[in-house]
Amino acid sequence: MTDPPSARPSDRLARPLRSFRISVTDRCNLRCSYCMPEEHYTWLPRSDILTFDETARIASCFVRLGVDKLRITGGEPLLRQDLPELIVLLARIHGVRDIALTTNGVLLPRFGAALRDAGVRRVTVSLDTLRADRFVALTGRDQLAATLAGIDRAVELWPGAVKLNAVVMRDRNDDELVDLLRFARARGVELRFIEYMDVGGATAWSGATVVSRREILARLAERFGAPVPCAERDWAPADRFRLPDGTVFGVISSTTEPFCRTCDRARLTADGMWYTCLYAKSGVDLRSAVRCGATDAELDALVARRWRERTDRGAEERHALREARGPLAARDELADDPHLEMHKRGG
Ligand code: SF4
Repeated sequence: MTDPPSARPSDRLARPLRSFRISVTDRCNLRCSYCMPEEHYTWLPRSDILTFDETARIASCFVRLGVDKLRITGGEPLLRQDLPELIVLLARIHGVRDIALTTNGVLLPRFGAALRDAGVRRVTVSLDTLRADRFVALTGRDQLAATLAGIDRAVELWPGAVKLNAVVMRDRNDDELVDLLRFARARGVELRFIEYMDVGGATAWSGATVVSRREILARLAERFGAPVPCAERDWAPADRFRLPDGTVFGVISSTTEPFCRTCDRARLTADGMWYTCLYAKSGVDLRSAVRCGATDAELDALVARRWRERTDRGAEERHALREARGPLAARDELADDPHLEMHKRGG
């Protein structure tokens, strides 16, 4: 049992540093319209991609400062070769209590068992539709069957520890709220509905396409009876609700009801850029610090100092734009600074 790190820094809004999202690649085998609407992208140079040892070294720094939950993301993390080797390194870090994975599920049948054996404890799979034609329209790939097989494999490998994420978009998939919930319930997994976010990459984002938490709850109430908020509330982004039949689901309402006040998340890109917010314009280059020989103490001091200065409330500031709100960045801005892309920051 690790003693709580006395050095656990809190930021200017008294938010602790507790959760670390590690993107291990910016590449993906899908092209979801709300994240990677383009066919071609400027990928991060391979020489800039952190080695597994560098990633584990940086993660150890965050764990020394209080992080106990790691989430592996991408792009699509299962595209990173030998990913189980990194999981083994991360699972060995003293103080890591939980390692979770966010994936589109397509490669889970192939790599799931090795990832579970390496130390992944929980899995979240993205699923925005149950219709094959719509899957192609939303992701640019004919991979619904592979994704569903991935979900079934996840349920076998991580019973009780699988969640599904569905990004809800008006006139694109919002007529599937009930079907998606029934699908999740039938497999004993918890579904989270995610409001469409204007993050980097969502170049076609508009407020008109957002289906708010309030509307999602109202629609589900019509079909299943009124959802009741789950008593237990933690720092996780989803608000959880229980239906009269006991089904529990979540809603992540960053667009209409931002939750920045309870955001304890830090994000690392595959090339070692650390972002204190999904909407942050700039980050801290930890790769250079590591490759220039920074000691553990120097790394800890750099990260602690930056976190203590943190005031990020990106979603709240976007929300305050009201009618003036549009996509976060245009295509040319994303081309100029690919790190603005959500698929580089791991969502
Ligand atoms: S917008 Fe930024 S501060 Fe707000 S919840 Fe997301 S990452 Fe945290």
